[in-house]
Amino acid sequence: MKTYIVDIDGTICRHDSKTTPYSRAKPIKERINFFNQLHDAGHTIIYWTARGQQSGIDHSDLTKKQLDEWGVKRTELRMNKPSYDYWIDDKAFNVQDFFMTDTRTGETKSMTL
Ligand SMILES: [Mg+2]
Repeated sequence: MKTYIVDIDGTICRHDSKTTPYSRAKPIKERINFFNQLHDAGHTIIYWTARGQQSGIDHSDLTKKQLDEWGVKRTELRMNKPSYDYWIDDKAFNVQDFFMTDTRTGETKSMTL
């Protein structure tokens, strides 16, 4: 069994613009389904978000509500991911590479795993 650390915004949901509030995020169903299948198979799925790290606003209730509404199965939701510009890690995937998403249409064509 593997442990997956999964971001939320821009990873399992998208926003119309950088100023779109979290409450108007739109779920990316095929990605949610992908991680749900891993969860069902017994893998550990931890969602980790930096929501509120810069503003100081607690978005945990909203985030839990959204994940429930979107049918996101999870082992754990963690808030308090640090804000960052670059994430340097020997095991990390960029979401576009992981899902091989067509950046023009947003369509997911295939997955790395
Ligand atoms: Mg993100």
